[in-house]
Amino acid sequence: MTTAPAMAPDPLEVLAEVFGYGSFRGPQAEIVGHVVGGGSALVLMPTGGGKSLCYQIPALCRPGTGVVISPLIALMDDQVAALRQAGVRAAALHSAQGPEQAQAAWKALRSGELDLVYLSPERLLAGDCLDRLAELPIALFAIDEAHCVSQWGHDFRPEYLQLAVLAERFPTIPRLALTATADGRTREDIRQRLRLQDDRVFLASFDRPNITYLVREKEGPGAQLQAFLAPRKGEAGIVYARSRQRVDRLAQELAAAGFDALAYHAGLDPQRRSAVLERFRRDSGVIVVATIAFGMGIDKPDVRFVAHVDLPKSLEAYYQETGRAGRDGLAAVAWMVHGPGDIPQLRRFIEDSGAEPSQKAIEHGKLDALIAFTEASSCRRQVLLGHFGETLAQPCGNCDVCLEPDRCQDVTEAARKALSAVYRTGSRFGAAHLVDVLLGANSEKIRTLGHQELSVYGIGKDLDRGQWRSLFRQLVATGLLISDPANQGGLRFGDRERVSPLLRGDVTLELRLPLPKRERQRGSEAGASRRFGSASAGGDGDGASEADPQLLQALKDWRREQARSQGVPPYVVFHDRTLIELASRRPLDLAGLAGVSGVGKAKLASYGEAVLALLVSGA
Ligand code: ADP
Ligand code: ZN
Repeated sequence: MTTAPAMAPDPLEVLAEVFGYGSFRGPQAEIVGHVVGGGSALVLMPTGGGKSLCYQIPALCRPGTGVVISPLIALMDDQVAALRQAGVRAAALHSAQGPEQAQAAWKALRSGELDLVYLSPERLLAGDCLDRLAELPIALFAIDEAHCVSQWGHDFRPEYLQLAVLAERFPTIPRLALTATADGRTREDIRQRLRLQDDRVFLASFDRPNITYLVREKEGPGAQLQAFLAPRKGEAGIVYARSRQRVDRLAQELAAAGFDALAYHAGLDPQRRSAVLERFRRDSGVIVVATIAFGMGIDKPDVRFVAHVDLPKSLEAYYQETGRAGRDGLAAVAWMVHGPGDIPQLRRFIEDSGAEPSQKAIEHGKLDALIAFTEASSCRRQVLLGHFGETLAQPCGNCDVCLEPDRCQDVTEAARKALSAVYRTGSRFGAAHLVDVLLGANSEKIRTLGHQELSVYGIGKDLDRGQWRSLFRQLVATGLLISDPANQGGLRFGDRERVSPLLRGDVTLELRLPLPKRERQRGSEAGASRRFGSASAGGDGDGASEADPQLLQALKDWRREQARSQGVPPYVVFHDRTLIELASRRPLDLAGLAGVSGVGKAKLASYGEAVLALLVSGA
């Protein structure tokens, strides 16, 4: 039988048959249409937004092979494995593989047996690789992590600069540059350097609605972290801390408390580091406690939380780091504790960095934006997206400010006491001493200075220490108090025109104070996770609440075995989302199974019977 020239497949059909998804997400449909039609573009989409399909589907719809350039060798193999599971003919070419593998990949490529090939930029630019590609039908070039071409971005890679050559060598082939970095300057840089100035830019919303943002005042970060994690045993997550010592200590504490927690930082030898990364990727419930050395290239979809026990460097860094949670679209939590102690340290890092004064000013400005976020009394997501130039019309309903509105209270009386304490002690002490005075503490400093004689001594026993510290911090954030760097951070009055009416009682002040310590210790985090965030408890609309937990566990066990026997990460077999849908819908035949999101033709053929057997026996 001779085969007639095949019609170009329809993108929606490919989406359903190969990937098992019913519809495109956000701008995906438009991007796919544009590229299938031969167009080039820059795509800006948040982590987890679904960038991969934007080039994978056009590669399957257009004649020839799609060439994907990716800087992360560690990830290429996982991506190729995931595609092969879906029945896509894919291979990788990178320096970490042996000559036989590379030869096999080239052979398949030359004989037109590959839909997609993943290449590192070094490989693409080395030797005669470009010449060899020029002889083959190429469907498109996808340049992943395109911000690596920009010095403004956070991951500049010089070899990316040479990718401009693609525009010259392959002027008629679509080029798609993709990144999750939204920064305007980086964006322009990418367009210019990759010769995409005249091509379209697709900008998706940077909102990650499935992430719950929880920002807390720092009390005892170790204990707070444990309280946060207690209802999340068995979930995968990342805990970021600033120093190696702290990482080691927290990892030990968590391990002692029964969590599967591992430390990761640049001080560990490379073997240990890759072992940790490997466990995190292959097992589903590992917590990695890490410095920011851990992050790039983590595309594990089922990271359920990202916790910060120290402030990140900037709001961009925070967005990037928290973005590693919930790529699969299921409920995930970004949790952070912050305290006044973080700020001087970060300022010092900037001062000691040896950068140009103008660069230092930029860094200080970035830190200010981050502090404003932590101190915000309005919706966190509105502040966060606002920072990236996006407006969210309504408060999100999924951050601590939105979820705990009752915590905004009239603090006029307390603020007046705090201001009086500043004034009566001579406008030169920091918050620690002022709080001692207000609480009527019997410290040596108080006795030496005679502050127990002041009228403000002991007038603040209605609030606890944590609440007073927070109040002082917020009075500084709102400008009512100024922390004087020339005087070791001693506090004095800020803007008189605002301080005076408050002292006179002409205006009131509303701020959010932390809960009293007694209530905090009753485990408010456990309560919080029940209300939102915990994937096992089920986020909105993910159906987890209807999923039979035993059946879900059986499916996960089966998946782990499958993954282990094939040497691939579990999510490559099926995503959590698919297992959850299976356990709640419980289809009884192959046709029903095919209707579940994430079950394409190839997976139906390889796993259909086994999954049905589980569903029937578990029913
Ligand atoms: P990114 O590269 O932008 O971080 P991915 O391409 O890895 O994101 O996609 C994130 C997740 O969303 C993946 O698990 C992917 O399978 C899933 N996904 C992407 N597009 C869709 C869609 N249209 N329908 C359902 N799931 C999707
Ligand atoms: Zn909100």
